[in-house]
Order: sequence, then C-alpha cells, then structure tokens
Amino acid sequence: MAFVAELIGIEEARGRVLGAVRTLGVESVPLDVALGRVLAEEVRSQVHVPPFDSSAMDGFAVPAGAEGDLEVIGEARAGAPASTAVRPGAAVRISTGAAVPAGTEAVVPIERTEGDAATVVVPRSVPGANIRRRGEDIASGDLVISPGEVLRPAALGVLASLGRPAAVCSKRPAVAILATGDELVDPGCRLQAGQIWSSNPPALAGQVRQAGAAVERIGRIPDHPGATRSEIESAAAAVDVVVISGGVSVGPHDHVKGALAAIGAEELFWGVALRPGKPTWFGTLGSGGRSVAVFGLPGNPVSSMVCFQLFVRPALLALQGAAPDTGRATAVLDADITRNPRRDQAVRCRLSSAQDGLHAAPTGPQGSHVLTSMLVADGLALVEAGEGAARRGERVPVELLP
Ligand code: AMP
Ligand code: MG
Repeated sequence: MAFVAELIGIEEARGRVLGAVRTLGVESVPLDVALGRVLAEEVRSQVHVPPFDSSAMDGFAVPAGAEGDLEVIGEARAGAPASTAVRPGAAVRISTGAAVPAGTEAVVPIERTEGDAATVVVPRSVPGANIRRRGEDIASGDLVISPGEVLRPAALGVLASLGRPAAVCSKRPAVAILATGDELVDPGCRLQAGQIWSSNPPALAGQVRQAGAAVERIGRIPDHPGATRSEIESAAAAVDVVVISGGVSVGPHDHVKGALAAIGAEELFWGVALRPGKPTWFGTLGSGGRSVAVFGLPGNPVSSMVCFQLFVRPALLALQGAAPDTGRATAVLDADITRNPRRDQAVRCRLSSAQDGLHAAPTGPQGSHVLTSMLVADGLALVEAGEGAARRGERVPVELLP
C-alpha cells in the first residue's frame, strides 16, 4: 500500500485537532496541588488586599505634623493592633505589617529616630509615608485572574492573599500512551538481537505532564492487528486522549490505522506535510458515550516528540480551556537550512537572545532517530517547504519547547 493520503499543512492539522476537542468538566483544586492547573473561574475579589492600612517599616506611628520629642504610648505589632490611638505629642511603636493605629499620619522608620523606651525623637515626615493602604494591591470587586490562565506560583499566592484555599480548575485530561513495536524492550531489561529500548513512553509522558495532563496508563502493543485493536479500545475506555507511537505508516507491520478503522474511529487526518512527522494520524473514537481524541504518532523518537508538541500539546491545553498556542515566537536563523520541496520542517534549535531578538541555531544532525537533537533544543524552527534554502539571517516562526 502506497502512502496515498493527501498531506495537509501544520496549521490545517492543528485546526482539525482543535475543532475536535471540547473542554472537560471542572473541579475544586486545593492551592497546594494547583500549580500548572488551568483556572476555570473568574476570580473577582470580595475583599481588599491588604485588608487594613499597615506599616511598611519597623518604627513609630506618628500624628500629623509630628517633629521632635514624642511620648511613646503603646505598641502595634503584626497580628496585635495597638489598643490606643495616636494623638498629638505621642507616638506608637510599630512593626512591619502591623495595623496603623487611628490618628496615624505617617510611620517614621526606626533608623531615623532616637530615644528610649518612654520617648522618641522623630524628624518631620511626609504624610502617608511608610503606610501601605488598604486595597492598594487588590480592591474589593477587582477582576484578579481570568479563566484559562495556567496557575503559576504567583497566582497561587494571590489566591491565598484573597483568602481562597482552593481554585476551580478544569479537569486534567487523562492520557494513555501506547507504544507499538515488536522490537521494543523496557529500559532495565536485556536486549536480544534486533531489539531496542523503548524511549518514546517516558519522553511522551513527560510532555503530557508538562501540558498539565495526567498519564493514566502506559502500555506496549505488539505489531499484531488484533492486539492493536483491543489495546486501543481498552485504553480509550479509560481515558480522554490516546497517544499511540509507531505503527502508523504504510509498512506491512504497521497496524494502527487499520485497527482504528476497524474499531470505528473517525479519521480527521492522516498525513501532514511536515518533516519529521509525515504519517501522523488524528481522529476521534466514541467510547462509553464520550469522544476520545486519538493520535497516531510516528515511532521515530524525534518525530513522536515533535508531533506531540505540534498537535497533542495544543489538544491537551484546549481540553483544559487554556490557550492552545502558548509558546510561539519568531527567531533569526543562525545557519542556512535546505528546504524540503514538499514538507515544512521542524528544525530542533537552541535559542539565544541578541540585540535583534531571538536567534535559532540548529542542534546538529536532524535525523528523526537522533533524539539527542531534542536534548539540547529549546525551540522548533518551522522552515517552510520550497526550493533552495532558508538563509542564515532569515526570520522564521519558532515553536518554543516548554
Ligand atoms: P514505526 O513508526 O513503527 O515505523 O517506527 C519508526 C522507527 O521508530 C523504528 O526505527 C522504530 O524502531 C522506532 N521506534 C518506534 N517506537 C519506538 C519507541 N517506543 N522507542 C524508540 N524507538 C521507537
Ligand atoms: Mg513499528
């Protein structure tokens, strides 16, 4: 069987993927495990942050116009407000974070004062100096974080500053990774003649987790039509996304496409004008009333990682309600790259920043089996199909690797 499918472009393929996935449900996630999760609610503050006027310094809370000798009439500590108000001729000792007592016009830092336990000598200060105002960070009613944001550490801190112990997040897509190939052996086991260690599952599992999704199962499928059908069906029953590596091309021992057809999967594309990654397959499979997204990625280790980045990662982000195209930029090529006449190339590059912006330097041999080309890459330069070469100094789109 020849490769008869019409190749579609990367953007078209990505569009078909995104058109086929819907967001999953939502759940409340405690902040301590919400890092990297996608927010599924609009966070509007119902409180002021800080909640009260407080001191930004250790020092003395002083009344309007204070200068010279003041009587120390009390203390305000963080968590323990003063019991007295500040009045003319008097000051209250105050710590950073303590509520400023009534009557305070400014806080004079301790370094700028002299005195003993009973009296303090202060210079004139600017009204409002060293006082953090209630609501200065966030005012009640402010829109603070929008749905679709990936929660980074600062967002977790901001949510906590609002008194929130948890956030409403999109459910994480559950993913099955199935590696096909009679030659594959798990790392840690001995190789027999002709065998190799299976490197795609750990790399793909890492990519799944980086996209905020959960690896529900990892399996291996022999190059056998029946086993391919049953393993895919059983995985699809348990997850939202099935990622299959290998067996998707046109060789006599490639059974993925046939198995998917046999179990009733709907093919949305097979064949992308991409190098590496030409035989990539994508479609959906109904399972238990749900639609499961299924990806057949080429088995070569670089191909499977590149295709994951270009097609599976956007799907996993979209399933969580996040923007699917985070991490795109342009960069200046640091070397000539011969164009492929029919296929766009995803060239593994090391990125650096210079005065004229990002630069992309290819990471060496670009064979789809040279996994070390990914090891040091932080971007994929997308070099359009055509004649001749993309020249050093030319600006090209780059997909940033997470
Ligand atoms: P396939 O797409 O099944 O034709 O495989 C293409 C190439 O990728 C072959 O050289 C396979 O041995 C290799 N390959 C497939 N799956 C894996 C894997 N899980 N780990 C490492 N290499 C693989
Ligand atoms: Mg194979």
